[in-house]
Amino acid sequence: MIAVLRIGHRISRDKRITTHVALVARAFGADKIFIDTKDIKLEENICSTCGRFGGKFEIKTGVNANKIAKQWSGIIVHLTMYGDELDRSIKKIDKNDDLLIVVGAEKVPSQMYAIADFNVSVGNQPHSEVSALAIFLDRYNNGKWLTKRFNGKIQILPCNKGKKVISRDK
Ligand code: SAM
Repeated sequence: MIAVLRIGHRISRDKRITTHVALVARAFGADKIFIDTKDIKLEENICSTCGRFGGKFEIKTGVNANKIAKQWSGIIVHLTMYGDELDRSIKKIDKNDDLLIVVGAEKVPSQMYAIADFNVSVGNQPHSEVSALAIFLDRYNNGKWLTKRFNGKIQILPCNKGKKVISRDK
């Protein structure tokens, strides 16, 4: 089980970027996302994507982030530009254990740095929770997310020009 915990979500300001965090989580191999602020619209959007494009991804908003992290029985990775090097950290993480990946929005409370088993940086420059999550998941699963099958009603086939889309009713 790979879950993502998105903390500090502000509905008006972060709706687009939190949607992208959830879409990256789903596409790059996570099973679930927790978001601290209740956001029904976001849940509907992500469920609609799953309904059309398939997969078993789950979304839960309005969670108590501290409680989720404290009750998590597997490994916790917090992505932060202040963390330890990505390549060094990845080697130390047991891939057979459940994984909770924490990403922030604005300033992340200091207790998250303490709760996390690994504070991991994806480079030490500030960029984005979307890019940090994508690169971390890609390295964590060695690019296996690329061949994951979603079996959705809509399937897009790779092509150089135009669009090849298969639509089927289930
Ligand atoms: N000043 C904030 C802080 O203290 O963490 C940075 C906020 S940043 C806009 C939002 C999130 O993107 C961070 O909480 C972190 O999860 C992720 N992030 C940004 N740059 C990162 C990096 N270089 N490595 C890992 N994660 C990063």
